[in-house]
Amino acid sequence: MKYHSHLDTQVTAEFGDALLASLAPDGGLWMPDKIPHFTPDKMAVLGAMDFADCAAKLATYFTDNRFDETTLKALCADAYNFDVPMVTFVGQRLDPAMPVQADEFVLELFHGPTLAFKDFAARFMGRAASHLMKKSGERRTILVATSGDTGGAIGDAFLGQDGVEVFILFPKGGVSTVQERQLCTIGKVGSNVHAISIDGTFDDCQALVKAAFADQAMTKRFDLMSANSINVGRVVPQSFYYVWASLQAKAAYPKRKLVMSIPSGNLGNLTGGLMARAMGAPIDRFIVANNANDPFVDYLVDGEYRPRPSVPTLSNAMDIGRPNNFPRILSLFGDDIDAIRSACWGVSFDDDATARHIRRVYQDTGYLLCPHTAVGHMGILTFRERHDIDATFLTVGTAHPAKFADSLEGIIHKDVPLPPSLAAAMTRKPRVTTLLPTLEALSDYIASELG
Ligand SMILES: *Cc1c(COP(=O)(O)O)cnc(C)c1O
Repeated sequence: MKYHSHLDTQVTAEFGDALLASLAPDGGLWMPDKIPHFTPDKMAVLGAMDFADCAAKLATYFTDNRFDETTLKALCADAYNFDVPMVTFVGQRLDPAMPVQADEFVLELFHGPTLAFKDFAARFMGRAASHLMKKSGERRTILVATSGDTGGAIGDAFLGQDGVEVFILFPKGGVSTVQERQLCTIGKVGSNVHAISIDGTFDDCQALVKAAFADQAMTKRFDLMSANSINVGRVVPQSFYYVWASLQAKAAYPKRKLVMSIPSGNLGNLTGGLMARAMGAPIDRFIVANNANDPFVDYLVDGEYRPRPSVPTLSNAMDIGRPNNFPRILSLFGDDIDAIRSACWGVSFDDDATARHIRRVYQDTGYLLCPHTAVGHMGILTFRERHDIDATFLTVGTAHPAKFADSLEGIIHKDVPLPPSLAAAMTRKPRVTTLLPTLEALSDYIASELG
């Protein structure tokens, strides 16, 4: 597969080069040149595979000749060694062989090592980049801004890999206690993963990473590579679970439509979903659920895109005022807002509504929603109030609730038990450096760590 810049279709690259370069030379975002389309027959074959095999098969279309089928199969089997369940709030599991007669499920994408859906992209990307560097003997410095979950997933996915040094920038005080501990305990002394607490907001972190990549000298000096969702290597694997999950849901309930709700921030997850839909995945509509940071929902309503500074909310991984995949969505639809609206329906919720919803679902069913997933589920309820359709509704569950134990305990007034991996992180000694949000401070720090 070739990729082109969203700014100029003449600027092209192979997958491996687009992955390592992060941005196109003209500053554009890499887009797949031609998204493959699968007939229902071919889709049925993909849907009958387990998730890792389905992902590997799809990956053959999106990579290049440095990735043969055997490599991709091993890569995906290694990356996706965890469960991808679709469950009701009372624990019934969607299984095409034994469909339960419910119409709402949570697609739990948080059973990977860092308990957030970002593991799907990070683990594919980390292995793909490492495969390329083993072939070429090159080195890369990975720079990633995180509002909580990305940094953990990237750090975990790249830890201990030769030829890569990872720097994770997070906003000081802007991530949950558990997330911060997770981020700051991945790298041990002398290891290749470094956590940096930036004296600023997530937007400052993201702006800093963008500025570093815009600085030719710095990019060259450190061989910078981005692991944020500006990197097409993050977005492509996020299409895989939409293809697979939609096929499972359709196999169980062939007559129903399928509506999926995505709690969204930078819109990388939505971009993956829209790519899956373009491949022919049987998804009728996406609900794009935002918190108070809702420039995309506003855009769907009045057609005006007004990026703005982000405000902090309970669902901090979605505190994005300027979603960096917005241009990708315009590009996928050739700037046709009506086409975008026919694929996406948007709605946003404030923290009060989110907290009430978490409490209610927990009291009624015992299921504890993370604040992001709660926003997604409320999106489904509101959509159903306004549309009378017979559909299977999947809420994309983006994180395990325990990652947000501090805020959830204040909402449900109960202890939220930590799964063993998080409990272990809480006992390790954090290793973190605090920096001002300036390119100079960042550059000096990276230079001192690279030695
Ligand atoms: C990153 C993240 C989101 C937002 O995903 P985008 O791809 O940025 O839209 C939602 N929920 C959680 C838990 C996340 O970590």
